[in-house]
Amino acid sequence: MEERELVSHVLQIVDETAYRMAARRILGVHLAVGGCRAFDFDILHRVFSDAVRGTVAEGAQLFVKVLPVPHHCQNCGDNFEATKSDCSCPQCNHLHTEIVGGEELRVLSLEIEETAA
Ligand SMILES: [Zn+2]
Repeated sequence: MEERELVSHVLQIVDETAYRMAARRILGVHLAVGGCRAFDFDILHRVFSDAVRGTVAEGAQLFVKVLPVPHHCQNCGDNFEATKSDCSCPQCNHLHTEIVGGEELRVLSLEIEETAA
């Protein structure tokens, strides 16, 4: 299941960051994902809140930003961004455009409660 893979990948980054920054708690996780990664947001949130139980990120909020999908038109050579993987070229209406990304997964930032020094 894609949601579980995504969450475990994210938690790995969260763990490392929390350790490096001596964070006591992670309050929020901001993610950016490519628009080609089709997953169910409800499931994602549920998997996330399950997975963080007992970790520094327990109870953390998950914020997901979906990135536009970059396309390349094979007919006129135009590059453009779309919100979905399947669309025609805005310049020439050519139906067969190539997806040149959209699989990104980035942790943009973490909201951290730092250890009181
Ligand atoms: Zn085109």
